[in-house]
This record gives sequence, C-alpha cells and structure tokens, in this order.
Amino acid sequence: MKIEIPESFKGEVDQSEATRERFSEDTSIFKIKPSCVVFPKDKEDLYTLIHYVHRHRGELSLTARSAGTDMSGGPLSSSIVVDFLKYFNQVREVNENFAVTEPGVYYRDFDKETLKHGAIMPSYTASRDLNTVGGMVANNSAGEKSLTYGKTERYVSALKVVLQDGYEYEFRKLNRSELEQKKQQNNYEGEVYRRVEQLIRDHHEAIKQARPKVTKNSAGYSLWNVWNEAEDTFDLTQLFVGSQGTLGLITEIKFSLVKPQNHSRMLVLFLRDRHFVDLGKIVNLVLGFKPESFESYDDKTFNVMLKVFPKLFKRLGGNPFKLAKDFWPEIKMVLKGGIPKLVLMAEFTAATEAEAEAAAKVAEKAVRGRYDISTHVTENQAEANKFWTIRRESFKLLRENVKHLHTAPFIDDMVVAPEHLPQFLPELYAILDEYKLLYTVAGHVGDGNFHIIPLMDFSRPDFVTIINELSDRVYTLVGKYQGSITGEHNDGLIRTPYLHKIFSSEVLGTFAEIKEIFDPHRIFNPNKKVDPRPDLLKSAIKKGE
Ligand SMILES: Cc1cc2nc3c(=O)[nH]c(=O)nc-3n(C[C@H](O)[C@H](O)[C@H](O)COP(=O)(O)OP(=O)(O)OC[C@H]3O[C@@H](n4cnc5c(N)ncnc54)[C@H](O)[C@@H]3O)c2cc1C
Repeated sequence: MKIEIPESFKGEVDQSEATRERFSEDTSIFKIKPSCVVFPKDKEDLYTLIHYVHRHRGELSLTARSAGTDMSGGPLSSSIVVDFLKYFNQVREVNENFAVTEPGVYYRDFDKETLKHGAIMPSYTASRDLNTVGGMVANNSAGEKSLTYGKTERYVSALKVVLQDGYEYEFRKLNRSELEQKKQQNNYEGEVYRRVEQLIRDHHEAIKQARPKVTKNSAGYSLWNVWNEAEDTFDLTQLFVGSQGTLGLITEIKFSLVKPQNHSRMLVLFLRDRHFVDLGKIVNLVLGFKPESFESYDDKTFNVMLKVFPKLFKRLGGNPFKLAKDFWPEIKMVLKGGIPKLVLMAEFTAATEAEAEAAAKVAEKAVRGRYDISTHVTENQAEANKFWTIRRESFKLLRENVKHLHTAPFIDDMVVAPEHLPQFLPELYAILDEYKLLYTVAGHVGDGNFHIIPLMDFSRPDFVTIINELSDRVYTLVGKYQGSITGEHNDGLIRTPYLHKIFSSEVLGTFAEIKEIFDPHRIFNPNKKVDPRPDLLKSAIKKGE
C-alpha cells in the first residue's frame, strides 16, 4: 500500500531505493526491505506515526532500529522502520552514579561521557564501537564483563517508552503502595499495571520455574524479573529490557553506573583435545578465583585469524618485531604442539598492579597443580589486548574477510551452566560434525555462553534444511540441560520459532498475553518474541554474493 505519513510529522520520511536497501539488513542471515524508513524528531512524531499505523492496522507496523547490528533479524521489517540514530542521540545527564540518555547514542560515545566521571555501564558488547545503548536495552545485551557485572537488565533503573496509545510513560521499580496507586488509575497505564500483575499472580509458579537455569538469558519476556516477591517491588522496566521493540518505543533510558577496577592481569590457558573431558572442572576451578571476565575462542577462530592476519596485524599495532615478541610464548607453543583446541582467557582486576598479578598467579598455580595445561600470565595491558583483539574482533573479521562464504548466525548464542559442559559439548560437537560445516566457536566460557558461527554458502540448496535441522537438534539439546537458546543476542526472527524448546506452553501463553496487553493490534515489530514466522527462512534470506 502507498504510505502517506501525515504532514504534521516533523522528521524525514524516506522511501528511496537506496535507503530501503540500507535498512534491509542487520548482521543476521535475513534481508527484508522496508516499504519506508522514517526519522522521527521527537515523541510527538512517534505519536503521529502510531496513530497513522493504527488507522491501517493489519497492513502497517513500526519496527524500531538504532545501529542495526542485531544478529537475529530484530530490526528488520517489510513495513515501516523507525530510525532512532538520527535524532534520539543525546546524553542528557551524567554523574558518577547514573546517566540519562536517549536510545540512539552509540555506546562508544556514551562510554566517553561516563568515563569523565570515572564510571562505566559495564554490560558492553564485543560490538561496543558499533552499537547503541538503545539496542543494548532492547536486546538485553551483555559482554566480556557480564560474568562479574551481569547483563544490561541490571543497569536500567528507569525507562521512558511510547506505548501503543501514542503517549510516553515512565517506568521504574515501584513499591507496593506505588503499585496500588498505579492500579487505581482509570486509564491505559492503570490497565497495564492491573493486567500484568494479575498475569504474574495467575501463573506465578510457572513463571518462577521458567527462568532459565543459567546466568544469562535474552529469550522470551523476562516476566520473572518484574515482581520481586521478597521485597514486594514491581518493575516494568524489566519487561521492556530484552523485548526487541515489540511492546513500545524506548525514548529515554536511565542507567546506573559502576566504577571499574583500573588494573588487570590475564591468565591464558591453552587447552588441547585431551583437556575437554575436564573442561567443566577447569572452568569451575578458575571461576573459584573470581576472574572479572572469562572468555574463550577455539582453534578454528585461530585459523581464520591467521588467514586474515594482514588486517588483524594492523589492528594489533602494525609492528612485526613487536608482534613477534608479544606472541612469542604462543609461537613457541604452536611449534611444539600445534594450534590449541581452545584458548581460555581469565582476566583478574584489582586496585593495584601487584594485586591483579597475584590473583592471576594464584589461579595459574591452582590450574597447573591439577592439570597438565600450558598457561601464561600477561605482563601488561598491551599484551592482554592482543587476546582481547582476537576475541572481540572474531565475528567482525569473519563477516568482512571470508570470501564466498557468509557468517550464518543461527545457533550463535546458546547458554548452559558450566557444570554441564563436559556432557553438553561432546553431544553438541557430535551433532555439528554430522553437517561438515566450517564454524568457529568463541564465547563467554565463564557463563557457559557459546557463539557458534558457521561459515556458509547461502546459495547452497540445502541451506534452509541445515538451518532448520541444526536449530531443532541443538536447541533440543540446550533444553535438555535447562539452558537458554540465547544469552544475549535475543530471539528475533531466527529464534522466536524455537522458544518452545525451553519454555512450556503455559509460559508461552503468558508471553502472548503480554503482547496482547501492550500491543493488541500488532503495530510494534511483528513476529519477534511471539507470532513466529519460520517461513521467512525460505523467503527472506540474504542472497549469497
Ligand atoms: C561484530 C558483532 C559483535 C557482537 N557482539 C555482541 C556481544 O558481545 N554481546 C551482545 O549482546 N551482542 C553482540 N552483538 C549483537 C548486537 O551488536 C547487540 O545486540 C547490540 O546491542 C544491538 O544494538 P543496535 O544499536 O545495533 O540495535 P539494533 O540492531 O538497531 O536493534 C536491536 C533490537 O532493538 C530494537 N530497538 C532498537 N532501538 C529501539 C528503541 N528505541 N525502542 C525499542 N526497541 C528498539 C530493534 O527493533 C531490534 O529488535 C554483536 C554484533 C556484531 C555485529
């Protein structure tokens, strides 16, 4: 249908082929061209859009987009895409404890502002230079510091959201009397509070049980985080965090901040095949020494890195002699025993260099006392940075540099508790090996959160079959170990069809009811979180160039 946004809209409306093409992709396997991209200037513009879409219910919808780095198809739509980068990009207030910001601010810019006050929002992603804080809230993103500091959900203390009636509402944690007052209101806001509270009461046990038994989860709506029974508080921000723009449009975020530790040392463990049986025990042993982060990458990542070395070389500083010196322990080790199967990086932080070094060395001694594993403690930050570069840049370098094949994130973010890894990983690898795919594994081993990214030719005839079969089998396995199908990348188009692998039909029913309460006419970001569209795997896949 012809889209005619009302004249009162102050921002821009762009239906040009070039813009629609630019907004047709995120970093998932999907490509869906929107009919129109709009650049609203303020909340009144959002009101105008919402009321326009209501007049064309069933035909039009609004999908929010910030930086578009989502790996799940979250910001893709064939209808109207609403850009938050262009005008919703101001940091409004910062001090050492909290920051108030609009959603379209890049994390890298937000970080500069908070660092002026000696503070950070610590759930930053490996894509921290590319993504916005709004995308992080909508996906409930996480990253290398989440082992210690948790996910974005922990830092959202208030949100302003424009709901389906076109008005902006503020959400924050309420105590019992504040909640009762809200419920008394004879308007849409009052109805929202009444219905969500009733829903949680009616399905209390099922919702409590539904929280995946892992430290990170972005699957479903986080109903289990809304009502804190012990404190009797009620926090609707937790429902919007991770909801991928399916319940409303976020216009302002208040983040609480933390003070980072300034000194660190990294303990690097180079694991061989023979160590895999003990992986869970090794991980738990190191976790006992409380590293701030605990990350990993595998031999295939290492191999791809070697292939793209000229680019990586530049990012690592570009000095061949210094690089050879920095990597000398690893070069020696590879010459002696080949490329390690898995590299584990445990970073210990403290108030002084000496304390950080002591913490890393104590953990190293404990590991070497029990296992015959090559280890290394970095001497300074520059040395640790080379490992961080490989870990952080792995997905980006893969996307940019592997010819004729594409990164295909579809089983890219599963989580199982570390104690299950010795059983889970061999079962997982056995399934993967049947498909003879080239893939890399990197991740947050401390949380049991693995990013498995196959490299695939999107035009191969069995592409869709492989994705369907593998997702089904792998997510069944994740369900068996009570894990989550997504720790941080969220459900989007790719995983919404698999939510039933980890949630009961009663819990899926509560998700559907949440969508009914906030978006009964399906005007916000359709087919993510509820109403799955598995058929898009056939019709909306990027063409292999
Ligand atoms: C190289 C690379 C590495 C990555 N590493 C990580 C990682 O370590 N951890 C991690 O968690 N993720 C990672 N990601 C995924 C992605 O970067 C994050 O999910 C990121 O937070 C998305 O932010 P964005 O600004 O790009 O959001 P977008 O992609 O624009 O949007 C993400 C979702 O949020 C919704 N949304 C956006 N703005 C709003 C709004 N104002 N109101 C309501 N909904 C909104 C969109 O509809 C969409 O569903 C990585 C991606 C890449 C490409």
